Amino acid sequence: MSGTNGAEQAKRPIAPILGVPFSTLAFGDIISLILAWMEGGTPRQVVTANPEIVMRAREDERLWTILQQADLITPDGIGAVYASRLMGYPMEGRVTGADVLPHLLDRANQKGWTVYILGASSESFRRALVNLTGLYSDVSFQGRDGYFKEEELPGILAEIRAYSPCLLLVGLGMGKQETFIADHMHDLRVPVSIGIGGMIDVYAGTVKRAPLFWRRMHLEWLYRLLKQPSRWRRQLVLPKFALAVLKDRFFFKNRQEM
Ligand code: UDP
Repeated sequence: MSGTNGAEQAKRPIAPILGVPFSTLAFGDIISLILAWMEGGTPRQVVTANPEIVMRAREDERLWTILQQADLITPDGIGAVYASRLMGYPMEGRVTGADVLPHLLDRANQKGWTVYILGASSESFRRALVNLTGLYSDVSFQGRDGYFKEEELPGILAEIRAYSPCLLLVGLGMGKQETFIADHMHDLRVPVSIGIGGMIDVYAGTVKRAPLFWRRMHLEWLYRLLKQPSRWRRQLVLPKFALAVLKDRFFFKNRQEM
């Protein structure tokens, strides 16, 4: 089964946001923890979670269980950070896949480790691999695109096992990637597996991250919406998330005061 044991988890501060156990560790501590896990041992699942995944998990029992059992959930979205502060938990700021990955890839590069990447279109995957190899020349990058048939799955799993990477980066989109990791992590025995959403497209250069100004203003969501207007439907979940957090906050407050 995925997940940490109780004693270990007790050492790591958690902010339950709508029941999802987000880590409140500072960015540097999160990096140190994942780097230590990459050395080997029990396979770990890291989830960089935004309000969308929290809301989806409320309606999807399997995803809910996966989030409960994940080894580390970081706040990939300012919504989660604000929610944690509203609930009275200290949370420094966002910890996104884009911020975490360079640190992990740097370490893999120093050690000459293998990293397996699964996801994105074949064109995007191919371009990302070229760019990543340019940036981290001592990493052995393996992987493939994320559009495969069910019957190809055993071959993909066998390939990942054969390469024994230190890191498995899965970019199949929110939910699907977390489920893939949870389903296979113990069989694959990769030390650290992370769902990275559209990061392969970012490394490929086909999708740009919001410029620093937008990120500093906590408006990355707006930038993405303007660049990819088709995402508006997905972002409707943000006010629903805010409302649910407010309800949770004041319901609990009232109950505690009774
Ligand atoms: N993707 C994939 N296989 C699929 C569905 C999606 O490889 O079956 C990829 C898609 O090409 C893109 C990424 O998953 O690179 C999802 O990106 P998005 O920014 O939508 O991530 P999310 O916000 O869902 O985490």
